Formats: sequence, structure tokens, C-alpha cells
Amino acid sequence: MSQTVNRILEKKRLNKSDLVSLLATGEEERKLVFQEAASIKAQYVGNKVFYRGLIEFSNLCGKNCLYCGIRSGNKSAHRYELSEDEVMQAARYAWENRFGSLVIQAGERSGANFVGRIERLVGRIKDMSKGELGITLSLGEQSEQTYRRWFDAGAHRYLLRIEVSNPELYHRYHPRNKTHDYQARLNSLYLLRKLGYQVGSGVMIGLPFQTLEDLAEDLLFFKKHDIDMVGMGPYIEHENTPMYRYRDKLIPKTERFILSLKMVAVLRILMKDINIAATTAMQAIDPMGREKSIKVGANIIMPNLTPSLYREDYLLYEDKPCTDEDAEECKRCLEARIHMAGGEIGYGEWGDSKHFKKRRK
Ligand code: SAM
Ligand code: SF4
Repeated sequence: MSQTVNRILEKKRLNKSDLVSLLATGEEERKLVFQEAASIKAQYVGNKVFYRGLIEFSNLCGKNCLYCGIRSGNKSAHRYELSEDEVMQAARYAWENRFGSLVIQAGERSGANFVGRIERLVGRIKDMSKGELGITLSLGEQSEQTYRRWFDAGAHRYLLRIEVSNPELYHRYHPRNKTHDYQARLNSLYLLRKLGYQVGSGVMIGLPFQTLEDLAEDLLFFKKHDIDMVGMGPYIEHENTPMYRYRDKLIPKTERFILSLKMVAVLRILMKDINIAATTAMQAIDPMGREKSIKVGANIIMPNLTPSLYREDYLLYEDKPCTDEDAEECKRCLEARIHMAGGEIGYGEWGDSKHFKKRRK
């Protein structure tokens, strides 16, 4: 088997069956995959890890994705939206601590108030930080006009996970209606690219009914759509969601974690110069999850800057980590852990996707 893995790793182009073989590696062989990913990472993006301070702006959401703890159908979620002052305070913290960039994430809404508030906040953050803070948005599917307004206000990256690239599977995890339409999500990715954003996408790993072939297709989807940055992590069940009923069909969490690490490593091998995030869901399963992701190919980390008061409410899945730590604690523990994983923090840098820059040239 190691011979097969070595042979695949020597290939210039990986096809679906190669990817499946790499994802199926056992304990010994996967070390080869991890080593290869680490060496490609060192060669193409270096050992710098860039921070994106995460502001979970609101858990209000108009959608009803069947896996998500803050879906509109979960009536037991306590809903909140941060005030503009709270956002600005978190942004100032990020700027003063030389985080380089912010991510503003929330449930999906498209009302005029929401759109205007985000536009104003992006502008205010740009002014406050004298243009120094880079801004990524992760606010779901929006109209072209909305995406343009936010871009013009100063946001330059956008994260919109496709969640699962197979349209058939997509409909198993989302209600079958107009607000949860695979094609519309895909179109949003095209719009974002057209408008000039650095485009991020991603998937959940270890969903019920998902196979290694599906995951290989997900990796090929990122390649086909020339995605600049990827954030993907294990699916984690949440009690108050319809998908909780399939919990017996899931592979154990530790296996979902290893599979997610393999996805990160294989993606690094497949798309050498993109940005890959070490996601919070990795840490929810393994306390050192994000650091382990960094070792095998990730180069972006999103320290949580949401005021502690609201952390418990942005509960997408069970056991979400760091819900009881403030930003300062999070920062200190992260810094030490990243050094332990052989990384160096790119303080004060945007850490834009090299892949994006190359395409632009
Ligand atoms: N509402 C926006 C959207 O859906 O694009 C952004 C916020 S949404 C909470 C961010 C991501 O959380 C989703 O893209 C999804 O992949 C992830 N997520 C939601 N529920 C999850 C779960 N149970 N396990 C793992 N990830 C989950
Ligand atoms: Fe809303 Fe995003 Fe959760 Fe779907 S994944 S329910 S859009 S917050």
C-alpha cells in the first residue's frame, strides 16, 4: 500500500481514484500523505499562519439548513445581533493586536437594514484601522448588488461553503425549496469571483451518507472552480436539528477528525498555493485540532473575537470550543500552540491567497 501511495504522490495530476486512495490511507500510509503536504506547504506558502479575527455578528438566520444549530427552525436558540459598538470594539482589538484581518460571519439575511448595517460596519472598520485590517465576509447568498456594495465598502474576501459539491447530496441536507437551491449557491460563487473578491468555499466532512468518492469530488470541485481559499471541517451533530436523527449513521468523531486532516493534506497537495483554514470544528473534536491541521497544510486560523456573552448562542454544533474564553485568553493560548506546530504568526499582514494573486497577474 505504501508503494501505491508513493506512486500516487509522485504523479503530476491526481484523478478521482488517486484522491480516494489518499483519503482511504491507514495509519502508516497517511503519514506519507501528511509529510508530502507539509513539504508542499513549506515550499509554496511557507510556515506563516495568518489570523482572521472572527466576529460572529448575529445568529439570526432566514434559512433552515438541516444540520445547523442556528437554523431558523430551531426555536430554542436564543437569538442576538451585536451592536455596532460591540463590533467596533472587537475590530479595534484585532487592529491593536495586529491581527491583519477580520471575518464577519452571521446567519443569512438580506433585508435592507442588515445589508446597510454590514456596509456601514465594513466602512467604519476600514476607517478606524486606516485601511490596515483586511475584511472577509461570510454572510451567505446575496444579490449581486449587495455583494458589490460590500465590496465597494472595503470587504475583499468572501467565504461561502458549497457544503457538499454533489447536488443530489445537497438536497439531502437542505430543505427542497427555493431558498436552499444548489444552483443559486453556485451562482453566488461566480458572482463573487466576477466582482473581484477572493473567493473561499468549503464543505463539511463526515456527513451521513457521504462517501470517500463524494469527498474526492469535493476536492475536484475546488480545483475546477479555481477556489482561492478553503475552510472545511468535520460535520458535528446538533441535538435540535433534523439531521440529528442520523447520528447512528455517522463515523465516530475521532475518525471524522482524521478524515478531515486527510482532506486538508490532500487539498494542499492538489492546490498548492491556496489559503486553507484550520477550522474551529477541528478543535471541537480534538483540543489540538487546529494545530494538527496547520502541520498538515493549513495556513489560516480564525481566533474568536465575539464578545463572550454571545458565544454560547452561536452554537452551530455540540461541544463548540472556546465559548467561555475571552479574546485575550484565546490569543495567548493560540500563539503558543501555533509555535509548537512549527508555525510563525504573520502579525499585521493580510496574508492574501497567493493563488488569487497569481491569477490576477
Ligand atoms: N450563514 C452563512 C452560510 O451558511 O454560509 C455563514 C454562517 S454558517 C453558520 C457557516 C458554516 O457553518 C456553514 O457554511 C456550515 O458549513 C457550518 N456549519 C453549520 N452547521 C454545522 C455543523 N453542524 N457541523 C459543522 N459545520 C457546520
Ligand atoms: Fe443559516 Fe448558515 Fe446555518 Fe444555513 S449554515 S442555517 S445559512 S447560519
